[in-house]
Amino acid sequence: MSLMGQMMHMPLMISSLLTHAARHNGDVEIVSKRVEGDMHRTNWTEVELRSRKLAQALDRLGLEAGDRVGTLAWNGYRHMEIYYAVSGSQRVCHTINPRLFPQQVAWIANDAQDKVIFVDLNIFPLVEKLAPSLPALQHVVLMCARENMPRECALPHLHCYEDLIAAEDGNYCWPSFDENTAASICYTSGTTGNPKGAVYSHRSTVLHAFAAALPDAMSLKATDTVLPVVPMFHVNAWGLPYTAAMVGCKLVFPGHHLDGASLYNLFEEEKVTMSAGVPTIWLGLLNHVKTNNLKFSTFKSTIIGGAACPPAMIRTFENDYNVEVIHAWGMTELSPLGTLGRLKSKHADWSTEDKQKLLEKQGKSVYGIDMRIVDAEGKVLPWDGKSAGDLEVRGHWVISGYFNIDKSPLHDGWFPTGDVATIDPDGYMQITDRSKDVIKSGGEWISSIDLENALMAHPAVQEAAAIACHHPKWDERPLMVVVKKPGAEVSKEELIAFYKGKIPNWQTPDDVVFVDEIPHTATGKIWKLQLREKFKDHKLPTA
Ligand code: AMP
Repeated sequence: MSLMGQMMHMPLMISSLLTHAARHNGDVEIVSKRVEGDMHRTNWTEVELRSRKLAQALDRLGLEAGDRVGTLAWNGYRHMEIYYAVSGSQRVCHTINPRLFPQQVAWIANDAQDKVIFVDLNIFPLVEKLAPSLPALQHVVLMCARENMPRECALPHLHCYEDLIAAEDGNYCWPSFDENTAASICYTSGTTGNPKGAVYSHRSTVLHAFAAALPDAMSLKATDTVLPVVPMFHVNAWGLPYTAAMVGCKLVFPGHHLDGASLYNLFEEEKVTMSAGVPTIWLGLLNHVKTNNLKFSTFKSTIIGGAACPPAMIRTFENDYNVEVIHAWGMTELSPLGTLGRLKSKHADWSTEDKQKLLEKQGKSVYGIDMRIVDAEGKVLPWDGKSAGDLEVRGHWVISGYFNIDKSPLHDGWFPTGDVATIDPDGYMQITDRSKDVIKSGGEWISSIDLENALMAHPAVQEAAAIACHHPKWDERPLMVVVKKPGAEVSKEELIAFYKGKIPNWQTPDDVVFVDEIPHTATGKIWKLQLREKFKDHKLPTA
């Protein structure tokens, strides 16, 4: 008979992250640039107290355990209070991306059956418009003080956030319940078909926070000041509101002020040391610092993921601004962390160039996530750094199913990510494509990410996207869609010649088109579907 351990069993509760932060690092600041335009300062003690009051307010609104509470909001302290109040009181926090098309927002809110929606002032018109098409919606809470409330409003159940909090006394004990209870829902971006809901539990969220804090993951410490650029509606800002509470660091929230100048000022004024976001958001910041000949005085490292980070961006951050870039891969279905680019001790005597090359990959898996690659028949492929296959994962914070969908997404107990990747003998994974974006030329695959990364290193290129274009002989050939840097001039012939020696000759794109802007999805990825649609009749010069 086995001997059982004799340790306390405390369910892993999200509220425990906040109570820990308040008790042990209570005076550490939470700073927010608000939608109202001003800067707001609070700390972990106050956030914890106000979250308790908000939980009481949710009781008063008649919400029951398991009820879904939607948010349409930017990064800020109120949004974080909602995270903790909703999950901590056994309801389910459903963050909705306000950048989605209104019909998609309505579809998602209806699928989740949100009973309440918390909304930031400048997103309120969207909720006013959509409310009649949301039958489950009972209350709308505007995230502001009384003086900012609209004088006229057709919505019958509109509440003022600060009034709701002011009405409560905070005499509330965070309940303890099964750690497998749902805590939050995040929908995939739904670039193909309808979005699908990933339902995180208290357990998965707390374990993810532990793993994210590890030195070889996000490496967060009490001495850090973290500015999550990644929105709180994109996989819970990659879990940063939870990990920050766990380590007790200072948080700086940018609201919707994400242009280069606003971000730079916030980094400097608040002495930010660490950040995280998708590649496109950094283009604006880098342009701003370069154009104005600025430097960062405290910013030391940033996690870049959500889409492939071009190596040229990593080099610029590191060589010109002394900011370490940690390239990370993850997805909504993974809460989101999967892998991160970090070195092992065996790499200590590698050349700088070789280390940099290795760190351009999406990296090695963090404890809690296992991965493998399989071919079209489901056969497991070797970790040789060459065989490319469908990436599958499993682990403590990987979904086992989608909300409201009976059919299991799993393959043989593993979650198929839809990404195509290689894994080298040391366990470093590299994404070559989304399976639906890969370019198939005469039966061979060309990685669109390789083509984009190569061109992003050209000094005249601001952004580049590779898409498959129909070809009568090869079926598909690569077409590059390029945005030039402001004021830069370059010809398509120069760009095509730039590939020489960087990729195998046969992979060289057949054509380049220049555009003013590349479309992005609501989570900041290049919107390949729209590009393919736009250029579906493009005639390649080689055709
Ligand atoms: P989302 O669920 O919106 O976060 O999207 C997840 C998808 O983004 C992944 O399946 C990948 O296709 C892509 N992705 C995330 N991080 C990276 C990365 N570092 N490199 C390449 N693709 C990435």
